[in-house]
Amino acid sequence: MTIPLKQGLIYGPVNSRRLGRSLGINPLPRKLKLCTFNCVYCQYGWTHIHGDTLEDSTLWPESSDILKALETALKEIVPAPDYLTFSGNGEPTLHPNFPELVDGLIHLRNLYAPQAKTAVLSNSTTAPRYSILKAIKKLDVRIMKLDCGNDRCLRKYNHSAKGIGLEDIVSALKNIKDVTIQSLFSGGEAGNYTDSNIKDWLTQIRNIQPLMVQLYTLDRGYPSDKIFPVSKENLAEIKHKLEQLNVVSQIYF
Ligand code: SF4
Repeated sequence: MTIPLKQGLIYGPVNSRRLGRSLGINPLPRKLKLCTFNCVYCQYGWTHIHGDTLEDSTLWPESSDILKALETALKEIVPAPDYLTFSGNGEPTLHPNFPELVDGLIHLRNLYAPQAKTAVLSNSTTAPRYSILKAIKKLDVRIMKLDCGNDRCLRKYNHSAKGIGLEDIVSALKNIKDVTIQSLFSGGEAGNYTDSNIKDWLTQIRNIQPLMVQLYTLDRGYPSDKIFPVSKENLAEIKHKLEQLNVVSQIYF
């Protein structure tokens, strides 16, 4: 069973395995999943709008409403969250005013929760855009998705929207010197846990030289019936290969 979409602009704080007590900011349109990917494992189910634009742009929440909702939450939540994180019903960086939202988030964090870190969970597809790259570099933490080492896998596993290619993504990620990579591995006919993908993925990780890699597998509902979770030992093997490249990683199982 997949999980329902987030209903509000702000949700949580949730106890995140990776970020501790994290307040989520969902800048996506209500009741819609909008994403440049349509991952076979997405906890929200299949993507409703597969791409980066909405025909009806009035469906986008106004930046001022998002920031007002965030300010209200920050005034009410005690103790303050550990992280303030852009995430939500799809790819958060697709909001047309994402750079403005980042500036607003940092301003509100400084006012109401100076100890909290700012973060984004992104699928990396917008990182090649200069304005997005510049904005995400202002955040304290960037957790960027990379499940695939080649375009074949990107199309089959993440179902990337037209015009998205791995080369652009990898060169943008190389440009972020303290990037954290998140990679979800699953087995099965539609999975990415194959010798050839892992070999290519390791090559891309070596190119990117991330601060660290977060390794995990399926632990919630997912829409495809052609995948299954890999074992902890499988993830440990990948971790071992990363160690040989001097890349730090952490398994979340
Ligand atoms: S990138 Fe994230 S939100 Fe988009 S389809 Fe994949 S898992 Fe779902």
